[in-house]
Amino acid sequence: MGECSFKKLDMIRAHNMPSIETLLEELAFILREKKYDPLRYRGDDNLAYWVLRFLGADLIPVGDCDEKIPIDKLGFYRLADYDEYNVAHEPFMLVMVGKPTPLVKLYIEKRKPPFIWAKLEWYNPYSLSVKDRIAWQMIELSLDKCELSRYDGMIEVSSSNTGIALAALAAILGVDFKVLLPAFAPLENERILRLLGAEVERTSAGITTELIDKVRSEAMDKNLYHPDQFNNDANLLAHMRYTARELLIQLEHARVKPSKLVLLSGTSGTASAVSFLLTNYYHHDPPETFIVTPAPNEKIEGIRRLETGVKWLDKIGVEYKVVEVKRSEALEGIRLAAKINGIIPGVSGGAAISAIRKLYDNGVIQKKDNVVTIIPDTGFKYPHAIEKLVG
Ligand code: PLP
Repeated sequence: MGECSFKKLDMIRAHNMPSIETLLEELAFILREKKYDPLRYRGDDNLAYWVLRFLGADLIPVGDCDEKIPIDKLGFYRLADYDEYNVAHEPFMLVMVGKPTPLVKLYIEKRKPPFIWAKLEWYNPYSLSVKDRIAWQMIELSLDKCELSRYDGMIEVSSSNTGIALAALAAILGVDFKVLLPAFAPLENERILRLLGAEVERTSAGITTELIDKVRSEAMDKNLYHPDQFNNDANLLAHMRYTARELLIQLEHARVKPSKLVLLSGTSGTASAVSFLLTNYYHHDPPETFIVTPAPNEKIEGIRRLETGVKWLDKIGVEYKVVEVKRSEALEGIRLAAKINGIIPGVSGGAAISAIRKLYDNGVIQKKDNVVTIIPDTGFKYPHAIEKLVG
C-alpha cells in the first residue's frame, strides 16, 4: 500500500480546464465542508488539479489518500505566492508582490455604522485596477500551454483597465498588442496604452457582444491571441484564487462576518467569484448579494447592464438583486468616499458607494450590517469626473 503525501500544485502542468459548471459544483461542495475529499477525484487527476487551482490551494494530495483533508492543510488560508518583503525579481512578477490588496473599513456617515469593508484594487501595479490579476492569469495559462508563441500578436476589447494591464504584460513579453477602446473611455487611458506600446482603435459604440464577436474573427484572420476577458474562464479563476480568497482570509483575520455584498459587474468575473466564495463559505448564514449596474442609458466606466451579456453571474447558483446607479450618483459616491474617508475611488467605485448609500437610505442595509465591496480603481484616473465634482 502507498501512502498519502503532498506535492506543490505548481509543479504539475495544466491540462484542459473542465467545464465551469463542473468546477463550481465541486468548489461549492468543498467550501461548504471546508474539506477536500481525495476519493471524489481518484482516477481524475485533471479535475483534482483544476478544483484545487480554483480553490487557491498550493498543495495537491498524491498517493493513497482515503481521508478528507481540511482545506487549511492544502494552503487555502496561506497567501503563499507573496513575498512579504515586497521584492519582485522580474517586472512580470510585480503582480505577485505587495499583496494582499488592502481591505479597509469605510463609513457612509462619519465613524458610524454600518461598516463598509472595501477592498482597494488600485493597489495593483500595472493598471492600478482589479484587472491586473486576470490579465496575468489569462497570459499565464496561455504560456502554460505555449499558446502565446504560436501567435503574431494579441488583441482585446477593453473599457481601459484590462487593456492597460495586458499592454504592460505585452511590453514585458515583447508581444504586439492592439486594443479596441470604446469611444467614452478617457483620453488619458488611451495615452497610457500608447505609451506602453499598444495600438489603440476607438470603437463607435460601447462594448457589445457583436463587437467581441468581430474581434474574435479578426483574431482568427490575423493569427492574434484574443484573451477575451468576457468569456475566458481564467478571469473567474484569477478572482476566485486571488481577489475573493484574499478577501475571505482578510475578513476572517479581522473577525468580520459579511452580511451584505455590494458588487460591480463588467464581465461579472469579480462579482461572481466573490459572491460564490463567500456565499458557500458562510452557507449557514450567507450574505445577501447586490449587483450594481448603470441605470438605463447611463455610462459608468468598467460596468455594464446585465442584459448586454455576462458569462458567470448566473452560473454561480447565488440569488442576487440588481441596484441601478446613474452616472451623477456614481460621482456623488466618489465625493462621499473622499469627504468622509479620505479615499478617492474611480467612477465605478463611486457607483458602489452610492448603491450602498441608497440601500441604507431605503432600509435594506441597516446599522448592524457588515457590507463588503470591491473598489476596482482610483479616481485619480478620471480627471474629467473629478472636474465635474469640483469645477
Ligand atoms: N470597474 C472598473 C473600473 C473596471 O474596469 C471593471 C472591469 O473592467 C469593473 C469595474 C468590473 O469588473 P468585472 O469585469 O470583474 O465585472
